Amino acid sequence: MSEDCIFCQIVAGEIPSDTVYEDEDVFAFLDANPLAPGHTLVIPKAHHERLNDLPDDTARALYDALHALIPAVEGSVDAPASNVGFNNGAASGQEVPHVHGHVIPRFEGDGGHPIHAVGGEAPDLSDDERGTIASDITDRL
Ligand code: 5GP
Ligand code: ZN
Repeated sequence: MSEDCIFCQIVAGEIPSDTVYEDEDVFAFLDANPLAPGHTLVIPKAHHERLNDLPDDTARALYDALHALIPAVEGSVDAPASNVGFNNGAASGQEVPHVHGHVIPRFEGDGGHPIHAVGGEAPDLSDDERGTIASDITDRL
């Protein structure tokens, strides 16, 4: 636990939350400032700042819970869709430095945007530049 982390304090029960799921590794609760009814946050109980920091078994447990929660969250508010995403690092807009996935129910005509809206100015890449990036990603795995 990180003493000054809001989400660690929620996991510890020191800050109340609308808890929707809990197992050995994962905790899920409603967002305090929801973008839609049912907006849910899914977090590892252990304090890690970014997805990149998660041990493999924690990452799997987090995804398993997320996978189960998505239809449950949508169903609870009768939503036909959802955006599911992580702000991963301060430069991406992550405000709470404890890994958390957002499940945001979406409705036809709700005025929201697709996940493409999170990007900055679109880069103008040549085929060669794209190819170099693609092989660099592959080489790092
Ligand atoms: P981020 O921008 O870091 O991806 O999102 C943090 C989210 O946590 C925000 O959507 C915000 O509304 C939510 N949040 C921040 N503090 C609390 C809290 O104390 N309780 C709950 N339930 N949600 C919180
Ligand atoms: Zn934490």
